[in-house]
Amino acid sequence: MHQKKSKEMNTNHTQIWNNCLRVIKDNIPQISYETWFMPIVPVKVELDVLSIQVPSLFFYEYLEEQYIDLLSKTLRKELGPKAKLEYSVVMDNTHLDNKQPYTLNIPTSNKGDLRNRPFNVGNQEKPTVCNPFVIPGIKKLNIDPQLNSEYSFDNFVEGECNRLARSASLAVAKNPGKTAFNPLFLYGNSGLGKTHLAQSIGIEVKKTRPEKTVLYVNANKFQTQYTEATRNNTVNDFLIFYQMIDVLIIDDVQEFAGKIKTQNTFFHIFNHLHQTGKQLILTSDKAPVELVGLEERLLSRFKWGLSADVQMPDFETRVAILKQKIYNDGIEVTDDVVYYIANNVVNNVRELEGALISLLAQATLNKKEISFDMAKAIVDKLVKKVTREISVEMISQTVCDYFGLQISDLLSKTRKREIVQARQIAMFFSKSLTNSSLSAIGAKIGQKDHATVLHSCKAINNLIETDKEFKNQVREIEAQLKS
Ligand code: ADP
Ligand code: MG
Repeated sequence: MHQKKSKEMNTNHTQIWNNCLRVIKDNIPQISYETWFMPIVPVKVELDVLSIQVPSLFFYEYLEEQYIDLLSKTLRKELGPKAKLEYSVVMDNTHLDNKQPYTLNIPTSNKGDLRNRPFNVGNQEKPTVCNPFVIPGIKKLNIDPQLNSEYSFDNFVEGECNRLARSASLAVAKNPGKTAFNPLFLYGNSGLGKTHLAQSIGIEVKKTRPEKTVLYVNANKFQTQYTEATRNNTVNDFLIFYQMIDVLIIDDVQEFAGKIKTQNTFFHIFNHLHQTGKQLILTSDKAPVELVGLEERLLSRFKWGLSADVQMPDFETRVAILKQKIYNDGIEVTDDVVYYIANNVVNNVRELEGALISLLAQATLNKKEISFDMAKAIVDKLVKKVTREISVEMISQTVCDYFGLQISDLLSKTRKREIVQARQIAMFFSKSLTNSSLSAIGAKIGQKDHATVLHSCKAINNLIETDKEFKNQVREIEAQLKS
């Protein structure tokens, strides 16, 4: 019966393909269907062979890797047990004037290398149709993983502060996608080693399984790429690219706050990768429960795997980190200098390294030995600077203290006049004194959007110009912020 059906419908490749699509659609997630099957164009059907046109080689390889079973089953239903699939690839040869689809022709001399690709699901029959698209040498697209070799596990000092995060990272690196730690969510304040640890995983995977596609990307960069893809009408390529990754590391996901479209896109990529057993590693400056400005469904996925925090190392670990850097840099520093730094730089590992780098620079520039006094001068200056760092949180707290309000009032939805005004002042200073974006500020102050923040800044500017008393208040707050 199948045979007969195939003969009758030989001329109608579109209909055959549409029948296949109906089945496929019911069997895979919508996003995968849209990404991988919608762009396919049926070309012709001859006997038992359906030819389809796919947008790229990449695409073809992915279909073969992920969907060959599904494709073969559905096609057999349509064309009978001997059904075969032939691909034609549209080359992205933008230099070619005619944008005709281009079917890859393999030079005759390569023929011996071509693999026969029948549908190999429990089927012993001899294949009759060669798949012309297995080109020797082309495997997966070569994606630069964007890793920094300095950020290896070897260079990461273990301590009580990072024990869970580090051992979970090691487990993930050994078995990406195969542990319960998916996603692995690393969180903690800035400068405590999240990026380093997340990159270690990528480095280790690349070392032990070079065939895996690893990608490290910062959330901001992901967002920019996505915006550009939207502008250039290449969102499909963007999705395809990200769905090819085996180990995806997204750094600083708190930056997605307020960026709804990027979040939606990331949500789909996340789902696709998770469903296909790929590994996700995310970092953030806050635990998932404390993140603001992120969609609930995304947050709930962040909690699926393991969340592990990194904290400021204790004194011993700080000493160990300093000593390791000193050793790696091949410099000589006495213990009293190391202890002085470790005792005084207590907020941030980056500052700890910074102190050492400044010290080294000073010594080299002044052609002097590193001395205790030099260390003390540098550290004292650095520590002072650290405590003066102005953040959205610090501004919110200062404004609340000034008006005798609770921080919870500021973050609440209330529209009481004095609270609305305090919120606006906090937004105004966050805009002028920090590097945060409008949407990040809004997300941190009462979950407002960027337009509200912009409006608040204008409102405060107007008031400063028209209301003397108000202007004085704002000046006082500013003085406190800068003291
Ligand atoms: P985060 O991403 O949390 O802001 P980073 O990973 O960028 O922090 O770390 C800041 C610096 O401190 C990096 O140079 C990193 O190598 C170093 N660092 C942090 N924690 C450790 C550690 N446990 N051992 C060695 N170096 C560390
Ligand atoms: Mg980081």
